[in-house]
Amino acid sequence: MNGDRFLLSPLASLLSVVRRLKTDILILGSGGAGLFAALHAHQADPKLSITIAVKGLLGKCGCTRMVQGGYNVALAPEDSVERHFMDTIEGGKWLPDQDLAWTLVNVAVERIRELENELGCFFDRNPDGTIHQKAFAGQTFDRTVHKGDLTGIEIINRLAEQVWARGIGRLEEHRAIEFIKSRLDVVGVDNGTDYRRLKMERVKVYHVKDEDILETIFSDLKDVEEEKQPLDVEGRIIAYRKRAGGLAWFDFQALCGGPRSS
Ligand SMILES: Cc1cc2nc3c(=O)[nH]c(=O)nc-3n(C[C@H](O)[C@H](O)[C@H](O)COP(=O)(O)OP(=O)(O)OC[C@H]3O[C@@H](n4cnc5c(N)ncnc54)[C@H](O)[C@@H]3O)c2cc1C
Repeated sequence: MNGDRFLLSPLASLLSVVRRLKTDILILGSGGAGLFAALHAHQADPKLSITIAVKGLLGKCGCTRMVQGGYNVALAPEDSVERHFMDTIEGGKWLPDQDLAWTLVNVAVERIRELENELGCFFDRNPDGTIHQKAFAGQTFDRTVHKGDLTGIEIINRLAEQVWARGIGRLEEHRAIEFIKSRLDVVGVDNGTDYRRLKMERVKVYHVKDEDILETIFSDLKDVEEEKQPLDVEGRIIAYRKRAGGLAWFDFQALCGGPRSS
């Protein structure tokens, strides 16, 4: 793949092989978003070299393949994108970014046409030949396009076939880590809401910004223990600063910074 774009330095070949790949567009991830991005970029300019780097196998990983319910889109004359929009906002408890939600419900209409007419997805149909749309969670109208309960597999298989057919470069089992970290605040990747803090508000946790206050509180308590042994919370080892009886002082990062933060 793109063999002429690998550069090997003589020194590197003595030590280890460093592969350098030059590509016009690098896409991370091969779910619905990544595969569509690749196809649309190729459509915009077929001369572009496009590479998809994905931590699993293209077409086999990610959430899109797991979609069982289906794809919400306002198609029926009695339905509307406005109604779909309000269902999305209310279903998301007014947390979604509204500009993005508006884009989502509008482009859903053209995307479902593209999936069916250009990419070859077979969705379930009514006896009169129109696309069948079923009821689904959070929707006030039957607007979920589906293929039985295997909608995600249908969508991702057809998308992956089209990507393969266009010779788009693939780097499978390539996990982008530093690249993502250098460009994203992994906490505020959405609308800026730190969901870890929202969840923490529902459990018995007190947020204290000023360390001096905590020092004062703990100085008044009896039997304060500095961190001596790791605290095992349901199998997760969490570092703490101080504890006294059932009260523990954690750094926010220690509590919420890891992969099990949610
Ligand atoms: C079980 C399940 C059922 C669902 N059902 C529905 C439904 O019925 N209807 C609906 O609308 N939505 C449903 N969803 C949500 C929907 O699947 C997702 O919103 C949607 O698929 C997201 O698409 P995506 O392309 O952004 O992400 P994904 O399809 O998850 O793709 C992300 C890609 O990025 C790759 N990746 C991740 N991290 C890295 C990294 N560091 N380096 C390289 N690659 C990386 C992954 O391997 C994957 O290929 C469901 C989700 C799940 C999990």
